[in-house]
Amino acid sequence: MPDRADPPPASRLMDPSPWGDEPSAERFARRTLGWVESAYDPLALLDLDLRIEYANPAFGRFVGRRPVDCVGGSWEELCDLAGSDAADQIVRAGEVRARIDGEHRTRDGSRAIVIGARPDLDDHGNLVGYVVALRDYTEQRRAEASLRRRETDFRQLAESSPDVILRYDLDGVATFANRRVELDLGVDPATLIGRPPGTGGALDEAQAPEFRALVMAALREGCAGSIELRVRATDGWRVHNVLVSPEIDDDGAVCGALAIGRDVTEQVRARREVADKERDYRRLAENSLDHIVRWAVDGTVLYANPAFAEIHRSTVDEIVGTVAPWAWEGYESEFATAVQGVIASGLPTTIEHHLTGPYTVEGRVHEVRLAPEREEDGTVVSVLAVGRDVTDVVRHREELERLARTDVLTGIHNRQVLYEQVPSLLDSARAAGRFVGLMLLDLDGFKHVNDRLGHRAGDQLLRAVTERLRVCVRDDDLLVRLGGDEFVVVSTVRARADMDALADRVRIALGEVSTVDDRRFSRIDASIGVVLFPDDGATVDDLLAHADMAMYQAKRNGRGRVEHFRTELSAAMERRRSIERALVEGDIDGTFELHLQPVYSLGGAPRIVGAEALARWTHRELGVVSPTEFIPIAEECGRIVQLGRWALRRAAELAVVCEQAAGRPIRIAVNVSTLQFALDDVAGVALDAAESAGCAATSLGIEITESLLLDDSAAVHGTLGRLRSAGIGVAIDDFGMGYSALHYLARFPVDHLKIDRSFVQGIGASDRRTELVRAFVALARALDLAPIAEGIETDAQLDFLRELGCSMGQGYLFSRPVPVHELTPQLRGDAPMPASLRPASSR
Ligand code: C2E
Ligand code: CA
Ligand code: CA
Repeated sequence: MPDRADPPPASRLMDPSPWGDEPSAERFARRTLGWVESAYDPLALLDLDLRIEYANPAFGRFVGRRPVDCVGGSWEELCDLAGSDAADQIVRAGEVRARIDGEHRTRDGSRAIVIGARPDLDDHGNLVGYVVALRDYTEQRRAEASLRRRETDFRQLAESSPDVILRYDLDGVATFANRRVELDLGVDPATLIGRPPGTGGALDEAQAPEFRALVMAALREGCAGSIELRVRATDGWRVHNVLVSPEIDDDGAVCGALAIGRDVTEQVRARREVADKERDYRRLAENSLDHIVRWAVDGTVLYANPAFAEIHRSTVDEIVGTVAPWAWEGYESEFATAVQGVIASGLPTTIEHHLTGPYTVEGRVHEVRLAPEREEDGTVVSVLAVGRDVTDVVRHREELERLARTDVLTGIHNRQVLYEQVPSLLDSARAAGRFVGLMLLDLDGFKHVNDRLGHRAGDQLLRAVTERLRVCVRDDDLLVRLGGDEFVVVSTVRARADMDALADRVRIALGEVSTVDDRRFSRIDASIGVVLFPDDGATVDDLLAHADMAMYQAKRNGRGRVEHFRTELSAAMERRRSIERALVEGDIDGTFELHLQPVYSLGGAPRIVGAEALARWTHRELGVVSPTEFIPIAEECGRIVQLGRWALRRAAELAVVCEQAAGRPIRIAVNVSTLQFALDDVAGVALDAAESAGCAATSLGIEITESLLLDDSAAVHGTLGRLRSAGIGVAIDDFGMGYSALHYLARFPVDHLKIDRSFVQGIGASDRRTELVRAFVALARALDLAPIAEGIETDAQLDFLRELGCSMGQGYLFSRPVPVHELTPQLRGDAPMPASLRPASSR
């Protein structure tokens, strides 16, 4: 079906032919028709009533009909254009006899149609119709609108931007400047328009060419760039970071350039400060004596200061970029563990690093602080290590630690080592099913050495003992000086007997006479307490405490002995402590009493010549406590001084009572401990006591032990001399028991020898003891001392003593120690003499 209307008469289609001839006019008409038919624009011929006479195919497409169907149709009905504007325009073109163009919208407003209307005139110039050409301008209008919108958008954006924005056209001339130019830089934007970059503004002139070059590069090469520009702002010089970028049109061609400047003054300032600081730090680091190194977490050295390089016998350049040994595959060391730990935990640490290996200065010790360095998200990215050579400090400390563990005098371990090493010894013994023996050794009579020969000698003795102990112990035994004259040996053993063997070795070794610095020490003896782990205690403290008890027991059992701990000792120890507490806290006057044991003349008419004062103590809780128990404790805790003074005062009072009863002098002898002699002015106290009691000094006597005489000091001499000249009798008590310091005996002003009861009781029972008693009596007589026998219990003993001519004696045979009121009847003569003393006839 033909898609077109019949061609209109040629006369209507054409102006007079340029070619003139009919045949050529026809050809022209045909061609013209061809054009019209194939034109893109809708074309139509209208009659005077605006009815379609002809429509080309494009018109048909425009109105949505076949061209033939258009013919005869009304223009207004066919063309869906808004209002009657288009029709009016066409009619007017006829009226004015000229072409009129006008733009119209389709009724739905979606399309823009431009209509060109021309009058169709006949040869006489009469209007016969209209020629109408339509063109769809919709796309073009849309493009224009969007361009306009974009431009407005740009301006709106640009004006509300905090940045300074300038726009340049292809010639490099400013076409736009936003308000920021005025607000920030105090430059009227209008004055910039039409100018090339970098002029007329607040820009630092020196930078203008650079800025211009950047803009031109954007325009010519389409490349973006940025530059920091110094600009004179309203409030002084500021720095703007200016981004220059090309503007690209829809075809991808550069159509201009934008320069966007942002005030970065603060950032620049901060950056500069950071840089300054960084420089300062770097200078510090470079010159620091500390070794500073920064590693990436993979061990790569990111930074090292010269000091660090130096200790690695290298240069900074050689080191940076290498990988630290701690990150090496399979490399294990305390240091590597520490660094990896810091990386893993993100926590700093400080360690002591002992340098070893060929890459470092061998043998030095560094204290290294390892600090993790993190990225913003917290991951550790590097480790900063600051190290310092602390070798000297460490050596010093080690020496101090060694000293802290060493007993200065003897060079062996001290008490601290016991607590440090024994626990692990106990653990491993337990695991191995073995015992650990602990031996506590206390020298006997060490105090005398110190007192008599001086501390220097005491020190020498301790060193000598140490030497001997060293020989006795095994290499893996622990030899410790606890302090004073106490030593401890700790030894892992198989059985308790092993400890006995060790104790024997020790006692034998100590027993050998030794010469130290030309000074001869006679036999050194020691009291030894032995405990065995685990039987006797589970901890160092328990073992020590129990060994101490055993050692004490050894002392009390006569010294120079070995005692093993037994549970009873614990109770004994507890009692000792209670006694000590009672002694220290108690009131002597209220709880102590002096009993008297009369001393009789054995030859001639028997009578009481004196009495020995013996302390008696009955404690509220402890009951009767024997002096053999509390005197040593009183000596230890120092209470002996008060006790001794009280005894002398009370003895003087008793002397008065006795003398009143007897009507003659009765001497009351008081036991004075060696320690009291050393600590107190015994002579002074005795004289005061006699004076305040109102008795003669001669009515008092004192008993001292031989050990006091060993202390061949001026003080002892002086005191004894004063006592003697005051007429206070001095007796050597327990004679024969102690040190047999015979040669001292002659030198001291002493009056009596008291033959110890152990000898007296040996009379008849033991030949040796009997002979000794005989010798003692002879000795006393030779030295012009009056012998007194103590502890006479039988008539046989009495008879033998009488035979020897021993003039005085005391003992249960005659009387136990009794309160004074039990003695006064005898003194007064109201009670009979003990039977054994009466002559056989009167018994
Ligand atoms: P000691 O000086 O050898 O005193 C004699 C001890 O022998 C007394 O024991 C006494 O009760 C006891 N005794 C007396 N006759 C006999 C006897 O025939 N047979 C036996 N088996 N023993 C007899 P006591 O009273 O237990 O005193 C013990 C030690 O306590 C005294 O030994 C003395 O060294 C000390 N002592 C007692 N009182 C004092 C004191 O006031 N001061 C000081 N420093 N020591 C005192
Ligand atoms: Ca005595
Ligand atoms: Ca005695």
